[in-house]
Amino acid sequence: MNIHEYQAKGILKSFGVGIQEGIVAKTPEEAVEAAKQLTEQTGTEWYVVKAQIHAGGRGKGTIKETGAHGVVLAKGIDKVADIVKSIVGGVLVTKQTGEDGKKVNQILVAQDVYYPGEVETEEFYMSVLLNRQTGRNIIMYSTEGGMDIETVAEKTPELIYKEEVDPKVGLQGFQARKIAFNLGLSGNAFKEMTKFVTSLYNAYVGIDASMFEINPVLKTSDNKIIAVDAKVNLDDNALFRHKDYAAMLDESEEDAAELEAAKHDLSFVKLDGNVGCMVNGAGLAMATMDIIKLSGGDPANFLDVGGAANAVTVEAGFRIILKDPNVKAILLNIFGGIVRCDRVAAGVVEAVKSIGDINIPVIVRLQGTNAEEGKKIIDDSGLKVNSAITLQDAANLVKELV
Ligand code: GDP
Ligand code: MN
Repeated sequence: MNIHEYQAKGILKSFGVGIQEGIVAKTPEEAVEAAKQLTEQTGTEWYVVKAQIHAGGRGKGTIKETGAHGVVLAKGIDKVADIVKSIVGGVLVTKQTGEDGKKVNQILVAQDVYYPGEVETEEFYMSVLLNRQTGRNIIMYSTEGGMDIETVAEKTPELIYKEEVDPKVGLQGFQARKIAFNLGLSGNAFKEMTKFVTSLYNAYVGIDASMFEINPVLKTSDNKIIAVDAKVNLDDNALFRHKDYAAMLDESEEDAAELEAAKHDLSFVKLDGNVGCMVNGAGLAMATMDIIKLSGGDPANFLDVGGAANAVTVEAGFRIILKDPNVKAILLNIFGGIVRCDRVAAGVVEAVKSIGDINIPVIVRLQGTNAEEGKKIIDDSGLKVNSAITLQDAANLVKELV
């Protein structure tokens, strides 16, 4: 699960990670109020207004309607309202959003942390993720912060460092010092960086994250180390033990069909094709997508209805697939191993009747226990549902009908 920058920073702060302070707001008025409050906290009167969307590249991205960038400096409280007006409600297009962009519903009014001081500011890159090959967490970091890490990896891979952590003992002091050293730090900044890395790693483990990306990590002009940006990805499989973080889900950032599917415990991924598929079992779903492709079609989704395909799950599946205007046919492919095909067939008939007006071909392929009985139920139902026994028959029907 993804969360917004302001939420991520709140979590990091609770683990003692230094952050660029900020307050979230939805309107220009709220933003001005936030700026006032922020000044009381930090003493500064320079701010940065940051669009909150689940995508990076905001600084270089532009708002379609106004041409404003997604991250804008406000040198004075009198500038805040106008900047917020040019961002909130607009659609932000960045390298990561695709050309459709993402609607901005809220912004973060943050403290401008690039203030002048005794030393130059420096930007670093840092991420924490799981190395699946070794089964260990890995801290990736670089002196080349603030830019696209993919570009750094391509052009100067030697400037990206990796530190693997043994889960039995956690991040060791010498590792934190090595990181600070490789980043070229000394004196107070060195000490601050070891603290930053240690608390960042503790946060990663503590919240069951699956990815942290802090770009940039900033060395301020008074040698503090803080997270200016924060991309945090939570492990969905661990959300049950983090109810407070699970509640941070911003439904407006999620695909509507995928949300609906999650509510029904269906495993659903939207794709770009025109043949909707509903299958029981992930392996069979993959095979079904393959055969659709081989027959010249294009799957519109992956949908695994799981072990218990019944009228309720089938109806939910149909409704989710039918939301997609690209879908020209639906292929239901069920293997009756634990479920009986006749019961699934009865469920399909019930679901199709309940939905009423499905104006596209529905092809049902049932195989396994009571497959023949199931086919008979479909054929006798009087509904415009095509039945098939073999997968190839079903695929041929799809080709014929689309
Ligand atoms: P992203 O573009 O979505 O990755 O958003 P970031 O939070 O990383 O901000 C983009 C860029 O804006 C950063 O790389 C910084 O260079 C710049 N930036 C962010 N906060 C400040 C700030 O407080 N002051 C100044 N001067 N620049 C900032
Ligand atoms: Mn960034």
